Amino acid sequence: MRRITLFLIIFFFSSILNAIEFQGKFEQGSYIIGKAQKGSEVLIDNRKIRITEDGYFAFGLDRDRKNDVVIKISGNGNTEIIQKKILKRDYKIQRIDGLPQKHVTPPPEVYERIKKDNVLIGRARSIDTTYDYFKNKFINPIDKYIITGVYGSQRILNGKPRRPHYGIDFHAPEGTPVKAMMDGEITLAEKDMYFTGGTIIFDHGHGISTLYMHMKDVKVEVGQKVKQGDIVGTLGKSGRATSPHLDIRLNWFEVKLDPASVLNLN
Ligand SMILES: [Zn+2]
Repeated sequence: MRRITLFLIIFFFSSILNAIEFQGKFEQGSYIIGKAQKGSEVLIDNRKIRITEDGYFAFGLDRDRKNDVVIKISGNGNTEIIQKKILKRDYKIQRIDGLPQKHVTPPPEVYERIKKDNVLIGRARSIDTTYDYFKNKFINPIDKYIITGVYGSQRILNGKPRRPHYGIDFHAPEGTPVKAMMDGEITLAEKDMYFTGGTIIFDHGHGISTLYMHMKDVKVEVGQKVKQGDIVGTLGKSGRATSPHLDIRLNWFEVKLDPASVLNLN
């Protein structure tokens, strides 16, 4: 009798556990897709997030995330709490000394412009729509490239640690056509931002966005829907770029994720 009860308890718990699946590594910078039962309520670190009608949800882990992530899933009168450890990564740190000061700090007259750019970018990244494109497979924005910058790397210039690099830099000739990595809606299309130059932000739903910078041409407009593979502009060196390259970003709202966690790079 007792054995049957124990069996039933194990069966009960494992059936709930089996209903939740994750795609992606529980590692710093990672993009993760979850699948729960329809109609569940999902909280990531106590933050309620959107779930699709068929049970999909998305979230991501910060570059420097150290503490476990807590995923709370409720549905059909049950609540399950999943606590996951986060694998730590080693990032590339580079020290450069003896740089002229003007390359280190932007001049005061551009502060207002930078502030305005940041507001626009922040607003686009905070958009939370019901689009479910995020659960599909991303494609590379260009076909022939050399990766010249990776996520997480950091420079220490004249002894001062700079902001880590959160993108992937694709080096290719200026004017190379650039494709949308995923279906989405354009939420920002600017030709000349101070740091990022020609800039595009795509909303893929549930707070998942991608961002392209340093574009030569921006051939899309805010509100426009794009399909994966559509040409949205051309590669350039606009903004504070010294050579032609496409820097792409992947975000879960304000959390900057490693685009390499969704791409197949050579
Ligand atoms: Zn970059």
